[in-house]
Amino acid sequence: MTNSAVIVGAGVIGLAAAHRLAEDGLAVTVVDAAPDSQSGTSVHNAGWIVPIMSAPVPAPGMLGKAARWMTKKDSPLYVRPSLNPEHVRFMLAMLRYCNPRDFNHGMGALTTLNERTVALFDAYDKQGVAFEYHQVGQLLAFHTSEGMQEYQRATAPVERIGHTAVPLSGDELRDLEPALGPHVRRGLHCAQERHVDPASLVKGLEERCRELGVRFIRSSRVTEVRSSGSVVTSVLAGCQEIQGDLFVLAAGAHTGRLSRLAGCRLPIQPGKGYGFDDRSGSVKLRHSVYLGEAKVAVTPLSDRLRFAGTMEFGSSDATIDPHRVRGIARSAHEFLPGLRPTEQPRAWAGHRPMTPDGLPVIGALPGKDNVLVASGHAMLGVTLAPVTADIISATVEGGRRAAELAPTVRPFAPERFTARRRA
Ligand SMILES: Cc1cc2nc3c(=O)[nH]c(=O)nc-3n(C[C@H](O)[C@H](O)[C@H](O)COP(=O)(O)OP(=O)(O)OC[C@H]3O[C@@H](n4cnc5c(N)ncnc54)[C@H](O)[C@@H]3O)c2cc1C
Repeated sequence: MTNSAVIVGAGVIGLAAAHRLAEDGLAVTVVDAAPDSQSGTSVHNAGWIVPIMSAPVPAPGMLGKAARWMTKKDSPLYVRPSLNPEHVRFMLAMLRYCNPRDFNHGMGALTTLNERTVALFDAYDKQGVAFEYHQVGQLLAFHTSEGMQEYQRATAPVERIGHTAVPLSGDELRDLEPALGPHVRRGLHCAQERHVDPASLVKGLEERCRELGVRFIRSSRVTEVRSSGSVVTSVLAGCQEIQGDLFVLAAGAHTGRLSRLAGCRLPIQPGKGYGFDDRSGSVKLRHSVYLGEAKVAVTPLSDRLRFAGTMEFGSSDATIDPHRVRGIARSAHEFLPGLRPTEQPRAWAGHRPMTPDGLPVIGALPGKDNVLVASGHAMLGVTLAPVTADIISATVEGGRRAAELAPTVRPFAPERFTARRRA
């Protein structure tokens, strides 16, 4: 019988899971290394709710692109040269997934997982989770037809869950968003996508969790996992030993390290991204906009425009690479020529939890009876937070609900990595 749960990690995934389990009536404790939830990756991201972007990161052709971009200091994708064996192993494993068969499998699995995303976000309102939520849709803007075609191929399979990408000309795009510059010639209108202020979502989830009686232990990094046979009995964080019936590992890009403490090494590595906010008001947007060829996300929030982008492998620290931030700013000016920042924006960095196959890791940790993993959501952690929480809740409940979800969840089982290693 599961009466209590300990969740390690108070990012959007850990908080969404805590919220669901507390709603289910469990006594929930959330433990996190950070002093508060306003400084991590779950706050520093573009805030897009985008089932239309269900394509996994490892894709056919990624190797060629990475090789071309490796020489450019401000490119959207960068693999930092490193001899760290874990990083090398991870990158080699990811390369093996850059083929049509694995890509299509991942695309299908993520699309199915995203089927209820929007409905679950809409339901937060009724559940008392307050956050800044925009339901206006998204535009993908391109300078060239070739740039757009790549995305059309990647968005077409998502139509089966009711998320569409309608092609528009440059002028049709400018009718919707007059701030887009004259070089934007093609685009896609994805009317069903949404966006949030990620900081407000994290705050709203935490506040609702507290109302439901969730206990938060802050500034406490989990450094030890204690077990009796196949049952984890407690985790050690600072000088506290925290006991529970169930443990959920939701430590973002650190979940690989944490899973090793529990006896099973999962391949989760950081994919660093950067961003900054512009409060000048010089450009007004309603939709979230993807600057296609530059791979930059622009998000209009109530008091600012947020710019985010780049994917950097092999870098786990918080340092800011000014070249990459400049690359984002340059693309922003190319697509939005009216942008006139009034002050030097303060850049931030976030670490996406990446897996070699580009799919999240959701489900039972191999070798342990009472540990669940919820991580590896890569570029879709905000989007997939409520559905991940729903799966965690169904897994704990068991019975019919868990059986119904089993086919949807199977591709994300942590076991896929350990079984492969054994083979
Ligand atoms: C530039 C950028 C743009 C993005 N844009 C989007 C977007 O538009 N839409 C989208 O869906 N996703 C987006 N993402 C991805 C999304 O931000 C992540 O997938 C998501 O935030 C991951 O959430 P998490 O809760 O798994 O991890 P995190 O937010 O990293 O939280 C993990 C928590 O675990 C804690 N922790 C770690 N180790 C320990 C330990 N040993 N003990 C205790 N606590 C520990 C950390 O302190 C942290 O608070 C973006 C990411 C980046 C970088």
